[in-house]
Amino acid sequence: MVLRLVLGDQLSHNISSLSDVVPKRDAILMCEVWEEATYVKHHKKKIAFLFSAMRHFAEELTDKGFRVHYIKLDDPKNKGSFRGEIRRITHIHKPDQIIITMPSEYRVLKDIQDWESELGISVEIRSDNRFLCTPEEMADWANGRKQLRMEYFYREMRKKYNILMDGNRPVGGKWNLDTQNRKPPSKELRPPSPTTCVPDVTTKSVFDLVHRKFSTHFGDLEPFHYAVTRKQALQKLKDFLNLRLPHFGEYQDAMLQGEPWMYHSHISHYLNCGLLEPLEVIQAAECTFTEGHAPLNAVEGFIRQILGWREYVRGIYWLKMPEYSKENFFNAQRKLPWLYWSGDTKMNCLRQCVLDTKQNAYAHHIQRLMVLGNFALLAGIDPKEVNEWYLIVYADAYEWVELPNVSGMTLFADGGYLASKPYAAGGSYINRMSDYCKSCTYNVNKKTGPQACPFNYLYWNFFICNADKLRGNPRLGHSFRTLENMGVKKTETVKADAKRFLKKLDRDEQV
Ligand SMILES: Cc1cc2nc3c(=O)[nH]c(=O)nc-3n(C[C@H](O)[C@H](O)[C@H](O)COP(=O)(O)OP(=O)(O)OC[C@H]3O[C@@H](n4cnc5c(N)ncnc54)[C@H](O)[C@@H]3O)c2cc1C
Ligand code: SF4
Repeated sequence: MVLRLVLGDQLSHNISSLSDVVPKRDAILMCEVWEEATYVKHHKKKIAFLFSAMRHFAEELTDKGFRVHYIKLDDPKNKGSFRGEIRRITHIHKPDQIIITMPSEYRVLKDIQDWESELGISVEIRSDNRFLCTPEEMADWANGRKQLRMEYFYREMRKKYNILMDGNRPVGGKWNLDTQNRKPPSKELRPPSPTTCVPDVTTKSVFDLVHRKFSTHFGDLEPFHYAVTRKQALQKLKDFLNLRLPHFGEYQDAMLQGEPWMYHSHISHYLNCGLLEPLEVIQAAECTFTEGHAPLNAVEGFIRQILGWREYVRGIYWLKMPEYSKENFFNAQRKLPWLYWSGDTKMNCLRQCVLDTKQNAYAHHIQRLMVLGNFALLAGIDPKEVNEWYLIVYADAYEWVELPNVSGMTLFADGGYLASKPYAAGGSYINRMSDYCKSCTYNVNKKTGPQACPFNYLYWNFFICNADKLRGNPRLGHSFRTLENMGVKKTETVKADAKRFLKKLDRDEQV
C-alpha cells in the first residue's frame, strides 16, 4: 500500500502526489494538526477557511472513490503534528511507501526529509507541479547574476508559456504596460461588491471548532464569504474576470476608505492552497483580452503579478532559505507596536488598513506595501516581528510568499537582492492614491510639527539614519540631493519630531 499525504495547501486534484494513485491499493492521508494551526497564531478566518477547504476536498476525493483518512483537529487520537500523525498512521497501516508533493515551506520540508530514516519506509518527495518555475530553473536563471530583477524573469516566463506573445515579441510591442496603470481613485469610483459564498454545514462546524480552540487568535471569523471548494473558487475567478479585470490595471494602486476589495481579484488564498491553479488563471485572463472583454494594460498587469511576481518570490525563497529569514540590513530593532493588532491610532490610513485586515484576513497589495509595510520600514520595526505579523493576519500567508514580500520588497532587509530600492514614501504618496487623508487627524501637507503627517518626517528621518547604507544607491540620488539641500535647521526638526513620535510609539501611547 502507498500512503499519499496531502497537506492543507495542496488541495488540487491533479497534484503530483496523487498523479498515479491506485484507488483499491492506496490510501490518502489528510490531517488538521495543532502544530500547523498555532506555530504562529493565525487569523481565525484563515484557520476556518483552510480547515473547511480541506474537509471539502477530502469529501470530493472520497466521492471519487479514493480511500481517505481524514484526521480532524479534535480527534482524541490526533498527535498534533505531521510527524506524530505519520508515525501513528504508518504503525497502523504499515504502508510500503509514502508519497508527498514537496511542501511549500522550508520548515516542513526539513521535517519531512527525516521521515525515511526515522520510519524505515521509503518517502518520495515529488516536485510541486502547480508552480510554473521549479527551484532548479530559478537557480539556473539566477546563477552569475549579481542582482535579480523580476522584469527579466517575467519576460522569460512569458516566452516559456507563450503568454501574450506575438511570435518572439510581446503582444502590443511592450512587455510592461504600467505607464497606463496605477491611476489615483476618482471620487465617483464604485467598485463592484465581491461575490459571497454562504457557509454550509461543514464550514459552520469548523466555525464551532475555531470558537472553541482559537478564540484568543486575532481577527473576525464572521462575516465569512470565502469560497471553500474549487467550484466556488472558479465562480469567484469568473466574477473577477467579468466585473473587475477590465479596471484592474488602472486602479491597481488605488485605496478607498470602506472599499477593501477595489478591482483586485481576491484569489491569492485560493491559488496558495490549490483550489485554483496559476496557469489556468493566467490563460483565462489572456482569453478576456483575445476575446476583447478587457484591455491589454489590465490583462498584462494582472498576468505579471502571477506569472512574474508570484513565481519570482517563490524562486527567491528557495534560493535563499534558511538565511533569508534572518536578514536585517538596517539592523531594525523596534518591537511591533500594538496598533498593528488594535488599529488604535490617529493615523487614519494605518487604522483603516488594520481594521480591513482584522475583518477580512485580506488587504490589497498597496495597503500591505505602502501603508502597513512602509510604516514598519520607516519606524525601524524588527523584520522578525513584522514577518510574524504578516504571516498571521492574511488568509493567503505562507512563508514562501510572505517572507520575500516582507523582508525583500517591503523592508529591504535583504539589502537589495529582491528590490532595487526601498519602497519608502511620505504622506503625499498615500494622499495621491487614497482618500484616507481627508478623514485623518494629521495634516498631510504639514512636514513637521505635532499636526504634521508622521509619514512625512519619518520618511526623511529614515534617510538620515540610514544614509551610510543607502547613499550609493543610484535610484536614490534625488532623495539624497533633496536631503542635502534641506539645511541644518530643518534636518534637526525632522529628527526631533521623529524622536518624539517614536518614543510615544515605544510606550504604546496612541500616535
Ligand atoms: C508586505 C506584503 C506581504 C505580502 N504577503 C503575501 C502573502 O502572504 N501571500 C500572498 O499570496 N501574497 C502576499 N503579498 C503579495 C500581494 O499583496 C497579494 O498576493 C495580493 O494582495 C493578494 O490579493 P489579490 O488576490 O486580490 O491580488 P491581485 O492584486 O488581484 O493580484 C493577482 C494575484 O497575483 C499574485 N501576486 C500579486 N502580487 C504578488 C506578490 N508581490 N507576490 C506574490 N504574488 C503576488 C497573487 O497570487 C494574487 O492573487 C504580499 C505583499 C506585500 C507587500
Ligand atoms: S495624513 Fe498621513 S497619517 Fe493621515 S491618512 Fe494621510 S498619510 Fe496617513
